[in-house]
Amino acid sequence: MKIRILGCGTSTGVPVIGCYCDVCASNDPKNKRTRASAVVTSGDKNILIDTSTDLRAQSLANNIEKIDAVFFTHPHADHLHGIDDLRIFNIIQKGAIPCYADERTIARIKHLFEYIFASNEYDGWKPRLLLSAVNSSMKLFGLDITPVPIYHGRGTILGYRINDAAYLTDCSGVPEETLEKLKGLKVLIVGALRKRPHPSHFSMDQAIEFSEAVSAKTTVLTHLSHNIDYVKDSVALPPGVSFAYDGMEIEVL
Ligand SMILES: [Zn+2]
Ligand SMILES: [Zn+2]
Ligand SMILES: [Zn+2]
Repeated sequence: MKIRILGCGTSTGVPVIGCYCDVCASNDPKNKRTRASAVVTSGDKNILIDTSTDLRAQSLANNIEKIDAVFFTHPHADHLHGIDDLRIFNIIQKGAIPCYADERTIARIKHLFEYIFASNEYDGWKPRLLLSAVNSSMKLFGLDITPVPIYHGRGTILGYRINDAAYLTDCSGVPEETLEKLKGLKVLIVGALRKRPHPSHFSMDQAIEFSEAVSAKTTVLTHLSHNIDYVKDSVALPPGVSFAYDGMEIEVL
């Protein structure tokens, strides 16, 4: 199984429009971040996590021409609003795409993207999605997928454990039972917004502390803002912890 980070940026992306800070002005491709998303590949199956605002550009940049399922973490715009770009995959694959999310996210998707689920004359020009609530562990394409509740500020959203890897974006803490579900991880991908604390996201230090509690073999920090310089701030990371970058590929053996 492989996980490719399609985007490791926070909701604004990096560079931020109108900002000329060192990171936004940097020419280093690892300081250029599209909105947070990842694709998990097992055999010939691709599972997309979130439909970021940059889904079209990410699919082109990473040669993604097939999406077999989508798992949504939560309905914030940066993780969801690329949903219309799933349309082209329906056309290529000649079928609907199974999509999984918690009940709240499903309700938000149906409300925000009412045109997708309404029957009208534009039927051929909208994504065809099969929405299902995911409440417990499931087996899909030979992978064990477990939704894990995580805190995102005052709300609770989903992260996913897939075999021995977990993807927990937009995380500011986890309930005790989730910590149990993260035992024995080989790869932890967790959000780390910036150096200063934030009410809805782990800071870099909090994410490092969390990675120590989980004690995964490898930790990758994602959902990064322009406050994080890939090169300058990497020196402060402990062994086994690194920053994500767009296009990063993580092998999970
Ligand atoms: Zn986000
Ligand atoms: Zn900036
Ligand atoms: Zn969010």
